[in-house]
Amino acid sequence: MRVVLLGPPGAGKGTQAQIIAGRLGVPAISTGDIFRANVSGQTELGRKAKTYMDAGDLVPDEITVAMVKDRLAEPDAKAGFLLDGFPRTIAQAEQLRSSLADLGHGLDCVLELVVDEEELVRRLSGRRMLVDGQMVQREDDKPETVRHRLEVYREQTSPLSGFYESEGLLARIDAIGEVDEVTDRALAALGADDHGQAAPEQADEA
Ligand code: ADP
Repeated sequence: MRVVLLGPPGAGKGTQAQIIAGRLGVPAISTGDIFRANVSGQTELGRKAKTYMDAGDLVPDEITVAMVKDRLAEPDAKAGFLLDGFPRTIAQAEQLRSSLADLGHGLDCVLELVVDEEELVRRLSGRRMLVDGQMVQREDDKPETVRHRLEVYREQTSPLSGFYESEGLLARIDAIGEVDEVTDRALAALGADDHGQAAPEQADEA
């Protein structure tokens, strides 16, 4: 299955991506995580991305698209993937469509996590990550940067909702509630819950 997870910063994409990808038996590919790993590893890519990320801006499409193409060419992504944080612009979505088409593939579903903005600000400003045994705030979770990231989302990423809707690929789910509840809604939308096609590990348990 080839799935894109769409949604604003703070919608819980990272959390849901891990769980859903596990259930579908495909890798979760997060562009934010790949960028952050490159920043901590002080690679050339990390150096290029860091200024944009710290400011809450998008990393330029040419850098991001090349990185995703490389990642999708790895063997574990051949049979399917769940993309988290990509595409984030119409240009990225068009590039993704053409690279998949070159391989004779297309997306199966774009799952949009819907959360209102008030809740997003609340979640993001309270969020901390464990780094080297310490709870730290991500540079881009500072209040001013959070507001900017939401603006960037509204302007550059939210048009993807209409783009994928017109392709008949969009499923929107309410992403407010317990993590498990949101996962259930997501799996149901993908037809991968108990009532749809069984996910691989469910088939084993039966
Ligand atoms: P969030 O969804 O919470 O904003 P991510 O971890 O997905 O966080 O992304 C963090 C940052 O990484 C973004 O603000 C942006 O600078 C960069 N980034 C991630 N994915 C992309 C992308 N597809 N295009 C451009 N920049 C990206």
